[in-house]
Amino acid sequence: MKFCSECASPVSLSIPAGDNRPRYVCGNCGTIHYQNPKMVLGSIPVWERDGELKVLLCKRAIEPRYGYWTLPAGFMENNETTGEAAIRETQEEAGANIKLGNLFSLLNVARVHQVHMFYLAELLDLDFAPGEESLDVRLFTEQEIPWNDLAFPTIRTTLELFFADRVKLREGGSYGVHTQDITRAMRADDEPT
Ligand SMILES: [Zn+2]
Repeated sequence: MKFCSECASPVSLSIPAGDNRPRYVCGNCGTIHYQNPKMVLGSIPVWERDGELKVLLCKRAIEPRYGYWTLPAGFMENNETTGEAAIRETQEEAGANIKLGNLFSLLNVARVHQVHMFYLAELLDLDFAPGEESLDVRLFTEQEIPWNDLAFPTIRTTLELFFADRVKLREGGSYGVHTQDITRAMRADDEPT
């Protein structure tokens, strides 16, 4: 941040009185510009028929991680709920109509100032198609998941947790709500996973 959004004067980093960490403070009007983590909302769209389960993934048409596979997800907007954001992102990126289920994973990615949340979701039909930000949208069985070509550690973690819960489901359990802190590099190509 270089300039104040209130008065367009230059800002500088300093610790305001009574605070304990550096903030961007305007030298002219004194506004303190607090910066807080961003929320990324997505879904795990599932199509299940005749005992076979498939998960919908999108191939990214944008950087970062162009060409890698992801669950539909994106930044939450103002004036929407977490559930609305997950439904909107699934519609925008995959053109997919879903019925949203429970929250499934909440992943803190503190090093990039983000919190990622994924909801369970049921695909209502097969009328999906790539949106502006996707090259392709496809259904994958567990065996077909492109584990080496997933876009982000949060996607891998969520899918791993999801298929682990599927095993528990067969044994009479239910889906959990999972909270994890992701300390690995956010971009999978920074660091082999
Ligand atoms: Zn200012």
